[in-house]
Amino acid sequence: MSETFDAIVIGTGQSGPALAARLSGAGMKVAVVERKRFGGTCVNNGCIPTKALVASARAAYMARRGGDFGVMIGGDIAVDMAKVKARKDAIVARSTQGVEGWMKGLENATVYQGHGAFEGPRTVRVGDATLEAGKIFINVGARASTPPIPGIETVPYLNNSSIMEVDFLPEHLLVLGGSYIGLEFGQMFRRFGAEVTIINRGPRLISREDEDVSEAVREILENEGIRVLTDTGDWRIEKRGDGLACLMTCGGAATEAEGSHLLVATGREPNTHDLGLEAAGVSLDARGFIEVDDQLRTNVEGIWAIGDCNGRGAFTHTSYNDHEIVAANLLDDDPRRVSDRITTYGLFIDPPLGRVGMTEREVRASGRKALIGRRPMSRVGRAVERSETQGFMKVLVDAETKEILGASLLGIGCDEIVHSLLDMMYAKAPYTVIQRAMHIHPTVTELIPTMLGELEPLN
Ligand SMILES: Cc1cc2nc3c(=O)[nH]c(=O)nc-3n(C[C@H](O)[C@H](O)[C@H](O)COP(=O)(O)OP(=O)(O)OC[C@H]3O[C@@H](n4cnc5c(N)ncnc54)[C@H](O)[C@@H]3O)c2cc1C
Repeated sequence: MSETFDAIVIGTGQSGPALAARLSGAGMKVAVVERKRFGGTCVNNGCIPTKALVASARAAYMARRGGDFGVMIGGDIAVDMAKVKARKDAIVARSTQGVEGWMKGLENATVYQGHGAFEGPRTVRVGDATLEAGKIFINVGARASTPPIPGIETVPYLNNSSIMEVDFLPEHLLVLGGSYIGLEFGQMFRRFGAEVTIINRGPRLISREDEDVSEAVREILENEGIRVLTDTGDWRIEKRGDGLACLMTCGGAATEAEGSHLLVATGREPNTHDLGLEAAGVSLDARGFIEVDDQLRTNVEGIWAIGDCNGRGAFTHTSYNDHEIVAANLLDDDPRRVSDRITTYGLFIDPPLGRVGMTEREVRASGRKALIGRRPMSRVGRAVERSETQGFMKVLVDAETKEILGASLLGIGCDEIVHSLLDMMYAKAPYTVIQRAMHIHPTVTELIPTMLGELEPLN
């Protein structure tokens, strides 16, 4: 069976569905291909389920802290992991079904459930069906990768997908990887009641961030009783009874960490290995990401790559923004580009980190004249009222243009508050605009103008 379309969308991640809707809305005949669960990583085993679990973990944490607020809860705080998982599953199911219903209900669109692979630059095969189109959009995402660690094959281990099925409390979770995913799961399981050890290769956690941010994050985790090992190497996994041990060097000396369960959170790789891209002539970079230009076109005319598989972002918002760029160029005569966007993301430990633009390290490396403002959360009224004073806010400004260069906000609500700076950056407005704005009291955001009024030269 062969059918011809105007457009084929492979994968229903965070950009494919929205793009399919735009294309079908513009009157195009569209094929949507999904081999697994509609909505992809974010919906099924990424952002949405992890944040649902983080919310349960925070509820447990706040219940244990009830006494700090004069709220007395008798007895130990117990976490029912089956209920935690059921709540998360219900939230996921709503989102997955929402995307599935949306795609199946689109006018002019046909949904194919199966693995899609190119047979040529205009041809995609899904099972028995051969689909032809002049425009093909690849939104196949990425998956957890496991590095070659000696002994890992001797133990069952979890990754960000399989951990979603955990409905029990691991006695002691070892987390390999001290980056965003590892830290979110590590803190969450500690709050559920597990012992947790985080093992990081590099000398500090979340090494893309500034050192003061890494240090403050480490302190937050250690304050909750998480063991954090950094500067480790030569990992070797050994089965020990019902559990396991990770043997390693730590700061050059031999050491080990024992646990009951292992989560491997060391990185992700694109789903480009089984797409038949060679049949289409689409180029990959050395790490397997699809090479694209600033408007997300691959080297083959009529084929675009959007979302994590193009290596231009690793977030739901970057993937969604990819669809906006492609749709703007194709349908709106608006030449939007990837380079128009400003880097921004969150780390959803509690309290969260909201990041935008350049780090302090990047600003220093750029050699430009800059100003810096810094405020500990212990000097933020809202944080004090809530007895949640961990973290700090830091903002960097260009001394000559007065434009905001970047910010790292670590503290309660900072995943939301960072947008006040992000929007100023998109407006290319000088920091003095926000410095003069009157904000609501008592909020965390009211201290942003204050912090901007206390800038000092970055020496
Ligand atoms: C644990 C975790 C937490 C995260 N938290 C956040 C967060 O808080 N905020 C954030 O912004 N980002 C977060 N992310 C990242 C975010 O989930 C991804 O960046 C986002 O899902 C974008 O993915 P995508 O659109 O590229 O494709 P995906 O969402 O990965 O979807 C790709 C889809 O393509 C399908 N597919 C693949 N190959 C084929 C094929 N050959 N044929 C047919 N279908 C195919 C897959 O089944 C899948 O449905 C998190 C990720 C993880 C793992």
